[in-house]
Amino acid sequence: MIFSRDLPILNAMEPIVGNLFEDNYVKTGILKCDCEKCRIDIILLSLNHLSPHYTSSQAGEAYVKALYLEPQLQSDVLRELTKAVKVIEERPNHT
Ligand SMILES: [Zn+2]
Repeated sequence: MIFSRDLPILNAMEPIVGNLFEDNYVKTGILKCDCEKCRIDIILLSLNHLSPHYTSSQAGEAYVKALYLEPQLQSDVLRELTKAVKVIEERPNHT
């Protein structure tokens, strides 16, 4: 079986979670550890607790932007990011 990423499918939550994390946690310098491993773990944990919003990658950018501007969505993402940051800070997987 081949699991390829050739399908033009995008989970709009990926860039949105990434952006909100960057702006609210990475740039503000409030993370206990901002190594690559911790940052990815926080994003993955958040994404796993949020409903995906799939779009085709052609329509992607406009869709992501529209979704990004929804206050309800931003607050859901920030809530999950806050929880994920706490979990990873307590149990970091970095060595
Ligand atoms: Zn770390």
